[in-house]
Amino acid sequence: LVDIDKSYRTGGSYLNVLKKISLEFRKNEFVSILGPSGSGKTTLLNLIGGLDHYDSGDLIINSHSTKHFKDRDWDAYRNRSVGFVFQNYNLISHQSVLQNVEIAMTLSGVSSDERKERATKALTDVGLADQIGKRPNQLSGGQMQRVAIARALVNNPDIILADEPTGALDSKTSEQVMDILRDVAKTRLVIMVTHNEDIALEYSSRIIRFLDGAIQSDSHPIEEKTEADAPIKQKKRDKTS
Ligand code: ATP
Repeated sequence: LVDIDKSYRTGGSYLNVLKKISLEFRKNEFVSILGPSGSGKTTLLNLIGGLDHYDSGDLIINSHSTKHFKDRDWDAYRNRSVGFVFQNYNLISHQSVLQNVEIAMTLSGVSSDERKERATKALTDVGLADQIGKRPNQLSGGQMQRVAIARALVNNPDIILADEPTGALDSKTSEQVMDILRDVAKTRLVIMVTHNEDIALEYSSRIIRFLDGAIQSDSHPIEEKTEADAPIKQKKRDKTS
């Protein structure tokens, strides 16, 4: 993102929600976005996912500017490159678990047999092979979120955008969901908005803090943790050698 600016019109005035944000993300990063309510986190996620559009600046994807993207370009980007995971799962209650994942491939031109096969594999990968015939309301919160992750992954996107993925889950179930997302981040970019500082610190490779539409800090907790641990490890090695 290069100097991204975004305002919303509220009543007769404009609310400047993102203020000249510049950020670079790479594959294999697990990024957590933290910040107070209203600081612009979801807006940022929506802009990166092409669900909403920036006013000025540029969003550059694999070296390509999106300044002149038409609606069809945004549609193609969303369908091929991005998977979304939301706090409340956004599953369709009257469809089966399998159908909820298959639906993500509706626009991809895949045959119905292949849709079924890919959806089954995606559900198996998140440990739900035995749940595919059930309806969402027959599952636990953690299982529903795993269905949502399978749906987000089934088109093999480069980017997973997760908005408070553990916001409705207890701590044990949150861990299961986060373990899956950590695995996902080994081969993709995961950007997660969260209010849970502990989860952000434990799982992400990078933490960006937002305040009032601007970046307050941008750090790499895992590297910092490893550096802080280094003297202890060194001491242990010295002892044994
Ligand atoms: P939370 O942690 O509560 O989810 P957030 O940091 O994700 O908050 P955003 O949802 O990005 O914040 O919202 C930032 C600001 O923009 C808020 O003041 C919000 O009311 C406003 N806003 C968001 N979407 C719109 C919209 N479509 N129209 C008008 N204002 C909006």
